[in-house]
Amino acid sequence: MSELQAIRGMEDILPPVSAIWQHVEATIRGLLLDYGYQEVRVPVVERTELFKRSIGEVTDIVEKEMYTFEDRNGMSITLRPEATAGIVRACMEHGLLRNQRQKFFSTGPMFRYEKPQKGRYRQFHQFDVEALGYAGPDIDAELLILLARLWRLLGIRHVSLQINTLGTAESRQMYRADLATYFRNSFGQLDEDSRRRLDRNPLRILDSKNPDLQALIAGAPQLTQYLDGASEAHFNELRALLDDAGVAYAVNPRLVRGLDYYGRTVFEWVTDRLGSQGAVCAGGRYDGLVSHLGGESTPAIGFAIGLERLVELYSLAGVPAPHRTPDVYVVAVGDGATRLAFRVAEALRDGTPAFRVETNCGGGGFKAQMKRADRSGAVVAVILGEDEVASGTAVVKPLRAEVEQQKVAVAELATAIRPHLQGLPGWPPLA
Ligand code: ATP
Ligand code: MG
Repeated sequence: MSELQAIRGMEDILPPVSAIWQHVEATIRGLLLDYGYQEVRVPVVERTELFKRSIGEVTDIVEKEMYTFEDRNGMSITLRPEATAGIVRACMEHGLLRNQRQKFFSTGPMFRYEKPQKGRYRQFHQFDVEALGYAGPDIDAELLILLARLWRLLGIRHVSLQINTLGTAESRQMYRADLATYFRNSFGQLDEDSRRRLDRNPLRILDSKNPDLQALIAGAPQLTQYLDGASEAHFNELRALLDDAGVAYAVNPRLVRGLDYYGRTVFEWVTDRLGSQGAVCAGGRYDGLVSHLGGESTPAIGFAIGLERLVELYSLAGVPAPHRTPDVYVVAVGDGATRLAFRVAEALRDGTPAFRVETNCGGGGFKAQMKRADRSGAVVAVILGEDEVASGTAVVKPLRAEVEQQKVAVAELATAIRPHLQGLPGWPPLA
């Protein structure tokens, strides 16, 4: 059987957990649409070159996490490890950035060859948001305000916001040099990854998760002291906007992205409830990326929410996902009744208001079908038997209240069912 098991690090999402996913995804989608963001869907594979150029060669993702293949034509393609690259590629390809601003979102699976553990998978899912063509700190603030609302909507309390500014690429150059000198002076303490990064990208060392390096990293020079005036003003304005909006944050000077075209605002929402996989959402400005990929210089900022971690956090909060149950379960005993059942069910679904109807499939006697009706969560059962077929009637049996069942003409079913739903969610009182 082992060859019929899922690939390591790639999870099946099954009921009832899939209901939580639907709720979380629908909440995010609704919120983003309300804020004026539009959906884009881009392919799950892109040319390998795109990721190398947009994520950067000296990163964990490109160095060791990508699923890269040759297609049958010998072209190197990669399963997307993140969404920004593909979205930016699509924007450039379709001319969406010429004198325009875009507020986009996208969602779907991402692939990284990591060591699988709780909160860290090889196929995982992100909700990704990108705002392109916006230079000012207002959009930075909006993204964070929107996220704060999202956590509230989902009833998630244990996340906190960390922000930092990386300044501009120019202002980082001196910092980079000083940082490299600092780490070179402690070369003996560095691990292999960090040594390799020392020359090419010393900022990435600050990202290291190696516990043995944390003390050394804590003593490193801080970027804040190297900041240019314009970036400082941008950051101060962002902070003022967040303060005004009542969004709490902590400035974490260690929060970095080691890529040249990332700059200014970076942020992360973290939780202490998920063990060591505590980052739920991460993002930042990448004003240099579009021009780095050969397009016209376009300021941009975005973030990605890790859905596995968010769903886990949602589950820990103990709020059950809204459970969708039918209003009506149609029980049909006998051939004539089975044939009539679909017509009755479809008519109930056509009505205004429309009922949510589950029809018994798979046969079964009266008792077995009533058991299924009960388990479905339906409020009433509509029972069709040979007698009813002959007389053009149906029995309406309330399943959640001690109320007598009632025999009515098929044409009167909707009127007979309606009072039993009164006061339930989605069913206003009858006039
Ligand atoms: P980490 O430091 O946890 O490896 P990262 O910096 O690689 O995260 P990003 O590339 O910023 O993560 O991705 C944004 C979010 O996607 C993360 O904050 C996290 O919630 C989620 N994420 C990243 N990698 C994985 C993974 N392998 N499995 C599940 N979720 C992930
Ligand atoms: Mg990672």
